[in-house]
Amino acid sequence: MSKEEDKRVLLPTNVRPTHYTLTITPDLVNFTFKGSEVVNLNINENTNVITLHANDIEIKSAKLVNSALKTNQGFRTVNIAKNAETQTVTLTFPQEISAKTTATLHIEYTGILDDKMLGFYRSSYKDQDGKTRYMASTQFEATEARRAFPSWDEPAIKSTFDITLIVPAEMTALSNMNVVSETRLGDGKKELVAFVVGDLGYVESFTTGKHNGGKSVTVRVYAPKGEERHGDFALKIATDTLEYFAEVFGIPYPLPKCDMVAIPDFEAGAMENWGLITYRTTAVLYDPKASDAKFKQRIAYTVSHELAHQWFGNLVTMEWWTDLWLNEGFATWVGYLAVDKLFPDWEIWNQYVTEGFQRGLQLDALRSSHPIEVPVNDSSEIHQIFDAISYYKGANVIRMLSAFLGEKVFLSGVKRYLMRHKFSNASTDDLWKALTEESGNDVSKFMTLWTKMAGHPVLTVEEPGNTLKIRQCRFLSSGVASPEEDNTVWWVPLGVDLGPTETHHEIRSVVLTQKEMTLVLPEKYDFYQLNARKTGVFRVNYTPERLSKLGQAVKKGLLGTSDRIGIMADAGALAASGYGKTSGLLNFIKNFEDEEQYIVWIEINSRLSNLLNVWFEQPDHIYQGLLKFQRQLVSKLVAKLGWEYSDNDDYLTTMLRSLVIKMAGRANDPDTVKEAHRKFHSFTKRNEESALHPNIRGVVFEIVLSYGGGNEEFDSILKYYSEARTADQKVVALTGLGFAQSDELIQRALKFSTSEEVRNQDIIYAFNGLQSNRKSRRALWNFVKENFYMVRLILFDLLHERYAKSLALFEHIIKFGTELFASEDDIKDVEKFFSNKNCKEFERPLQQSIENIRANAAWVERDAKDVEEWLKINGYIQ
Ligand SMILES: [Zn+2]
Repeated sequence: MSKEEDKRVLLPTNVRPTHYTLTITPDLVNFTFKGSEVVNLNINENTNVITLHANDIEIKSAKLVNSALKTNQGFRTVNIAKNAETQTVTLTFPQEISAKTTATLHIEYTGILDDKMLGFYRSSYKDQDGKTRYMASTQFEATEARRAFPSWDEPAIKSTFDITLIVPAEMTALSNMNVVSETRLGDGKKELVAFVVGDLGYVESFTTGKHNGGKSVTVRVYAPKGEERHGDFALKIATDTLEYFAEVFGIPYPLPKCDMVAIPDFEAGAMENWGLITYRTTAVLYDPKASDAKFKQRIAYTVSHELAHQWFGNLVTMEWWTDLWLNEGFATWVGYLAVDKLFPDWEIWNQYVTEGFQRGLQLDALRSSHPIEVPVNDSSEIHQIFDAISYYKGANVIRMLSAFLGEKVFLSGVKRYLMRHKFSNASTDDLWKALTEESGNDVSKFMTLWTKMAGHPVLTVEEPGNTLKIRQCRFLSSGVASPEEDNTVWWVPLGVDLGPTETHHEIRSVVLTQKEMTLVLPEKYDFYQLNARKTGVFRVNYTPERLSKLGQAVKKGLLGTSDRIGIMADAGALAASGYGKTSGLLNFIKNFEDEEQYIVWIEINSRLSNLLNVWFEQPDHIYQGLLKFQRQLVSKLVAKLGWEYSDNDDYLTTMLRSLVIKMAGRANDPDTVKEAHRKFHSFTKRNEESALHPNIRGVVFEIVLSYGGGNEEFDSILKYYSEARTADQKVVALTGLGFAQSDELIQRALKFSTSEEVRNQDIIYAFNGLQSNRKSRRALWNFVKENFYMVRLILFDLLHERYAKSLALFEHIIKFGTELFASEDDIKDVEKFFSNKNCKEFERPLQQSIENIRANAAWVERDAKDVEEWLKINGYIQ
């Protein structure tokens, strides 16, 4: 026990539940539900008071039956006291019951099936006849089970459950286990209990049974009736992944069935409820004829991630939310592992270097970052750590350790950990222990700082003679760390790459364990790089001369995909933080005009977008100069790939085509803009479905509205939105609307995105477009400010004066509204706006946003001249 743990808001330990028998009757006409609950209790102390979690439910009656009384009459509660702050209810009974006995607590209650996407809630959709229909679903993580039934809602308190749902005969009712009337969830956690009621159809498949003593697992994808056929892709992924995980972890999937359900209104991407995984529609349904191919990868990854949780999180559960990363970091890493196994040609691990790896590093480069193992005390703090640190820094650290120990040894250690703690709780130390035993390395000794301290190092390298002088210090994106901030000495596997031989790169395994070290290199070395394959969680700050030599190495084809990405990402992050110069980054990127690897282009695009975003209010000729650079960089590839998609293209080529057309269009390339308009008009005016391939629709919407489009085009996209056949088409249209240029259309986009026609879960897509569009970025922030209470009304529960609706979505809105600004005035403005508001429940993302603005402002201030000169020298401006 540490001191922080004392602040945890925990329930009293006088009684503990062992089993819940729950009967729930939803009413999908009046949007209410009735609940009847019997909880088996162990009585640990003499008591007449029981406190448990309950939120937004009305307890009608409560009765306690004690085994010692030898009567099943029991006694009724004399007082029911609700506490909104702690989300608990305290039941007082007329008589004390004795310690070391058992009792049953009987509660009758009612609740509202609201549309908050939390607890037990309703979701609406149009059926095939265009009629509005309703279904009901649950979302209990992190602390929302208490909205559906009174419970001891803490991760370490495990119980079993029998769940009965009483529904009309024509409805499908699903819960964690097979037969709804006998849903016994062994050793479950409240946040993993789930139920869904609706008019659903499904597609079905079975595992081979090789890993489950000859028994196969029934896998189904459910969706509102008529849409289930789009579940085929996810179904195949799920069946294959279950087999793969059973093999890798040495433990079969422990339930007889695995249901996955598409829920039209869903707060997160998906939720890993044991045996009943719920998904946002776009993360599970895929229509090969109508969906953009980019959703395919998202589905493959999301399904793998959620299935990984059936082992990491469900089979072995964290003790407390401080160890959330054990669920999320692992499921992220293992999710990639499975996708790599199923689709080796996607090069998903290289994609990880440009996506998840960078997201983890970026958030962790803020002073307002937090350690992977972070003390959290109550529900308002818990939900704020479902962020890039828990997911991606967690996965980064795991990936680094796996690369160091070797994947095989690492996975054996993981197997040992799972076997030892299955159906039980575990902590980070338990994982290190298993890995130590398996590998013979003292894993906890070198990993502890990585999970207990915020931040990661930047390694500055000098090259006196034939040596490398390497020094580590904490990397901060908003400037150099002060001595007080820089007191962690990380364990850093250097991965020294001494360059290509005939057949391979010679990589030396050297570990930096001090603040500084000197490495002696061969007499005549020409090439070296650190962090080969970019598995280490750190940035490398090379001298400008070395960075330019690495640029030459790119041209000569001496660097692998992940290394090309990683060196560019480091150069970008270092330029933005002041360790390097932006001109150095631009010089490095210039070497990539012959690049043909999609994944490397993702990184080029994100570095240039980042620069353009922060430079958005710099003089226009500078901005145009940057666009010209981008235009020329992609021109060769755009010409080579053309606009036509072929069934013979591999996945990465398909994705590359969409990306370079987007980059050329964003940079106002005349031919690209012209072709986008031509295709758009054939598609919308002449109704030629085939004129605009689903893969390119979002890109074309953006280009058309950005350059030359007006009311007519805007209305056409709105029409496409309202007639969309799939949920992903709606997402594409909403994001596209965000690229409107005139004030009038920007206002229309803002109003539309918060109207009845857009699901609350989807507002963020429109806002994402509006944030990326430099013309609407200020309008978006003004809109959020002016309509703060309206936005709150949509996303929050104003009545209860607390943020009862989706805070996760609201956090996105705050970030989209603010974080791309780049001036001190904007920091003042944001701080002033929030100064008279209660920010407790979104303090972390707000502080992170403000720090990002600060870093952006400092970057422009420092490098505006540098960029201008570079553009002049290179002929992009006069
Ligand atoms: Zn997860």
